[in-house]
Amino acid sequence: MKRRRTERFCMRCGRPLASVPTDGRVRPACRACGWVYFRNPSSASAAAVVSGGRVVLVRRSVAPYVGSWCLPSGYQEYDESPEETAVRETREETNLRIRLLGLCGVYFSDGAGVKNTVVHVYLAERVGGTMRAGDDASDVRLFPLDGLPRRIAFREHLDFIEEIRAGRAVLAPLRRRRRR
Ligand SMILES: [Zn+2]
Repeated sequence: MKRRRTERFCMRCGRPLASVPTDGRVRPACRACGWVYFRNPSSASAAAVVSGGRVVLVRRSVAPYVGSWCLPSGYQEYDESPEETAVRETREETNLRIRLLGLCGVYFSDGAGVKNTVVHVYLAERVGGTMRAGDDASDVRLFPLDGLPRRIAFREHLDFIEEIRAGRAVLAPLRRRRRR
């Protein structure tokens, strides 16, 4: 297993990690304190904000795919639900306030080689705000569902927009987050 720099030392006690069979796989683990590095995919969300046959896309200003267009999207913070991530990322990248209408679907991606990611895609409507690019976006525009730009960053975003355009999107209802 190829080790990245961040996986060479124990997160708990700082000693070098060894390769140890744990729970069915060989994983980086600390023989001194017992800490095991379980490498998991990251979680992210994207929002398809649709209005009058048009969808909001942002132009990426960060790698990967700088200059390509995609749905407002980003990684989930540790204390956020996927729904909250979709709302926050859309506000940061487009300045729009949105209401989520349902879950379009979930897909698994290698994140263009950056890191494996589970992405939740929501259909949404605008409820406020003036469209303005921010954060990881250099531009934000409304595109007709049947007139999208050629360079779309993530194939899956295009697939979900196609399903929405064709009326084939089946939305899973949103559930209220349980708070303890
Ligand atoms: Zn340790």
